[in-house]
Amino acid sequence: MTTPGTNTAYTQRSKLRRFILALSLFSLACLSNSASAYTLLFGKWDDPTRGTGATVSWSFIADGAGVDTSNYHDGNLTGLSSIGTLRLSIDSTYGTGAFDAAVQRAFNTWASVANLHFNHVTDNGSPFAGTTAIDIRIGAYVFASGFAGGAGYGPPGNDLFFPDPLAGDLALSANNNFQIAPGAEGDLLPTPGGAYFNDLEGLVLHELGHTLGLGHSTNPDSVMCGYVDSNFDGSACHYELINRQLDADDIAGMQFLYGPATPPYTVGGNVSGLANNKSVTLLNNGSDIKVVSSNGGFTFANALASGTYTVTVAVQPAGQTCTISNGSGTISNIHITNVSVSCTNTYTVGGNISGLAASGLVLKLNSTNLIIANGANNFKFATALTTGTAYTVSVGIQPVGYLCTVINGSGTISTTNISNISISCARSYTVGGGITGLTKAGLILKLNGGANKIIPSGATSYTFATSLISGTPYTVTFSALPAGLNCTLGNNPGVMGSANITNVNVSCTPQ
Ligand SMILES: [Zn+2]
Repeated sequence: MTTPGTNTAYTQRSKLRRFILALSLFSLACLSNSASAYTLLFGKWDDPTRGTGATVSWSFIADGAGVDTSNYHDGNLTGLSSIGTLRLSIDSTYGTGAFDAAVQRAFNTWASVANLHFNHVTDNGSPFAGTTAIDIRIGAYVFASGFAGGAGYGPPGNDLFFPDPLAGDLALSANNNFQIAPGAEGDLLPTPGGAYFNDLEGLVLHELGHTLGLGHSTNPDSVMCGYVDSNFDGSACHYELINRQLDADDIAGMQFLYGPATPPYTVGGNVSGLANNKSVTLLNNGSDIKVVSSNGGFTFANALASGTYTVTVAVQPAGQTCTISNGSGTISNIHITNVSVSCTNTYTVGGNISGLAASGLVLKLNSTNLIIANGANNFKFATALTTGTAYTVSVGIQPVGYLCTVINGSGTISTTNISNISISCARSYTVGGGITGLTKAGLILKLNGGANKIIPSGATSYTFATSLISGTPYTVTFSALPAGLNCTLGNNPGVMGSANITNVNVSCTPQ
């Protein structure tokens, strides 16, 4: 934390949670066998027997609903609920539907690990902490303390500490100190305007944990780690990181309350970066096909009772490449929701070809080969590259009787396809000659200072593999001579015409 604003928000956030914290410490003492870091509040929804499932209704508290102060004594929440304003503000920054989607993802995350089923219902307009049949109600209020996050109250059954009407109520700060942070789990939260803003999904996920019955965990990586300062229990929480995935401690706590998610288990996750009007085709275990045409959540149609899952990209979007993380694993008591598909724009590399009237040309893009047909006048590599990638096109194999050179062959991919590479090919001719008197090994020749050509003892002719186009000067030199022989070169140097050179003769005699 580096800015006063950041520290203030953080500290204020912690104060609001003091009430919850007291409950969680008390409940920790109630647990006789707790070797885990998670703690419990008091109740759970539906059957109070721990380990049994629940169906939980939830709503957004209707805009304009106040606070029932007869059930809510903390005094921190004031004014009228304004989820609509908060939603509008978030959506105007992150796109239509972004607010609701972030909240829904938080519900889905908890539902994926425990025997929990959530029903989104229309609110009845009761005040915060007002009596209602709806279990979890999410409102947006002004926190008198200036608190910049949210507060969630546990399930009913704890009138000693707060009355049932307050149970399951969740208040977000109407000040909208929220962001939908870009990036992945564990990434640093950006500090827009220099201040630390809560990641909306991560915060709602945490507060929902309270509304379902979990207290704070001392595990710094857990979602339920108390987002509090050094005066309280969570000074080591990684509140500065994106934290939207439950860790084992969170899962253990929620499964202790509601039991594991029931089979069969779905496999899904999230797609990001997909361009408008594009789609990516995903495959689970090689057979379950899912075509995804927009960013956001996806789930494969076939749920699995057990076994493993492996998600792959079957068809990439046109002009994009998608990569998968968390793509495989073993099904174990939870629905899989964390398969991450990240798509980025990619660009092709190609150009034109001139003068090619032979087969055998192989071009290379970095290390990828492309075979070019006889007579081709353009080329394009199948492999597409992302922005910032360096590319080098070269000739891997020259066509028989032709020499091809590359123009504009290298650069760095920006945001357009590369189409200005030229391959210029021309008829080419070889250089060689006859040999006399070569009675020993050790003769090595070079053409124009190029690669060594080793000539075996007894050879009577040679031809260099490298060919030259008309007008190219050529010089053959001795790179090494056989011991005990003197050798000379005839008809050397010269300039290539329009026929193979066969008269750069080598003549050797004993010393
Ligand atoms: Zn908390």
